[in-house]
Amino acid sequence: MQAPLSILREVFGYEQFRGPQAAIVEHVIAGGDALVLMPTGGGKSLCYQVPAIARQRAGHGITVVVSPLIALMHDQVGALHEAGVEAAFLNSTLSGEEAAGVEKRLLRGEVTLLYAAPERVTTPRFLAQLDSLHQRGQLALFAIDEAHCVSQWGHDFRPEYRALTVLHERFAGVPRIALTATADALTRADIVERLQLEDAREFVSSFDRPNISYTIVEKKDPTLQLLRFIEGEHAGEAGIVYCQSRKRVEETAQTLSGQGLTALPYHAGLDTEVRQRHQDRFLREDGIVMVATIAFGMGIDKPDVRFVAHLDMPKNIEGYYQETGRAGRDGLPAAAWMAYGLQDVVNQRRMIDESPAGEDFKQVMRGKLDALLALAEATDCRRVRLLGYFGEDSRPCGNCDNCVSPPQVWDGTDAARKLLSTIYRVQQASGISFGAGHIMDILRGKATEKVKQFGHDRVSTFGLGADFSEAQLRGVLRQLIATGALAVDAQAFNTLQLTEGSRAVLKGEQAVMLRETVAAPSGGRRRAAA
Ligand code: ADP
Ligand code: ZN
Repeated sequence: MQAPLSILREVFGYEQFRGPQAAIVEHVIAGGDALVLMPTGGGKSLCYQVPAIARQRAGHGITVVVSPLIALMHDQVGALHEAGVEAAFLNSTLSGEEAAGVEKRLLRGEVTLLYAAPERVTTPRFLAQLDSLHQRGQLALFAIDEAHCVSQWGHDFRPEYRALTVLHERFAGVPRIALTATADALTRADIVERLQLEDAREFVSSFDRPNISYTIVEKKDPTLQLLRFIEGEHAGEAGIVYCQSRKRVEETAQTLSGQGLTALPYHAGLDTEVRQRHQDRFLREDGIVMVATIAFGMGIDKPDVRFVAHLDMPKNIEGYYQETGRAGRDGLPAAAWMAYGLQDVVNQRRMIDESPAGEDFKQVMRGKLDALLALAEATDCRRVRLLGYFGEDSRPCGNCDNCVSPPQVWDGTDAARKLLSTIYRVQQASGISFGAGHIMDILRGKATEKVKQFGHDRVSTFGLGADFSEAQLRGVLRQLIATGALAVDAQAFNTLQLTEGSRAVLKGEQAVMLRETVAAPSGGRRRAAA
């Protein structure tokens, strides 16, 4: 068998394998199964492309690459052609005639790598073709790209991936390599189980992207904050701004354009042709800011994206990491910036509560959201938190917002107890729940019409929090909701509800530490973050 390094040099023109590539390639060429976890840009493709070529040259036949992304298939096949490798794809963009042509080449053994969508791979027709190759010993390897798609805990569940177990069941002796850039412990275990990869060797790369600096700011006037961030640190550079909704994408793109930036919108509601044009411009021209929903980005390989900004919080850390990972693929300094506020917490919680999913599923989603909220609320190193989520230990990075300028924190425990006890007393007194504004008015001793109407100026905590600013109390509420010590009932006018977790805070067993973003609070003691 030809040495993998010589294939790397001869076919791809690279000098050396990177990180764990050499070990993975060797293991797979020898016929072992592998599960590869490597961050975006880590070099996953070569992990199966080099073995595919080596095994083909040794007479083992073709490699089938399962990929969910048509755009990515096209890019990869194009690049392989340029390198002189026989590659082809089968997907819905081919006419019947073209597909038949590819199948013919496949059966004649003229293809080294065949890329196919999962729904195609598992059709009886395709499986029969694989049978015929298998019987002749011409099925060298299965590569399952974006393997997290098999898991409903991942951020991109595709039911078609579930059917891929057939590959193992029907072609037991053919080695398989599954690859993904995003997998926390839960998703990872799910991939192993769903794809029956119990015997596969796991290759886990560090997920650290040391050239990306992470910053999470408290949301005040997000568009203005974004503008300052771009103009201050990334003027004229390419970046992606993620927003939750199409409407927000449009508005933000317009605002940024009005300020002289070249900002283009991208979301699923735009015509295919417009989307394509914007994407092409983003890839070709310098300094374009793409304002997009998460519909944008998968399979986009632009090395010099200098920043990724989130105007709204994503669902979980995997999504956040995947999206921010699109910055700085060239290894040069890049920034991940996010604005985060109370409304994000409320929205994300509501989306989970209102989803039609089962309770077990919602529980897992809540857990994942909590991890992201903890990251957003963190006053210590963001990178340590992020990597910790992926099971990796690390030291404070010196490169995130919290490392660069350790936030002043203040002890919001007292404010938190007063808020919770106000919520409790008001609920007791009136038998119904109220929203954040009303609760804060009571605590701050503001005798509004509504407060008087309900007689809440007679509640014992009325005015007890006069020292706290509204911004401070909002911060406390946000953290209480973020940590589950308080719930927002979306079905009932966003009223605040005590939870199981409220008790520990009420009893003073759990401290509430907040980053200080406004003028020094008079109601809490100031101290530097540890
Ligand atoms: P991933 O799929 O993990 O996001 P890719 O396979 O697209 O990453 O690789 C990212 C980039 O790194 C590509 O431009 C690829 O050509 C380059 N690359 C990968 N491995 C090597 C290597 N050993 N030497 C040099 N460049 C590499
Ligand atoms: Zn840090």
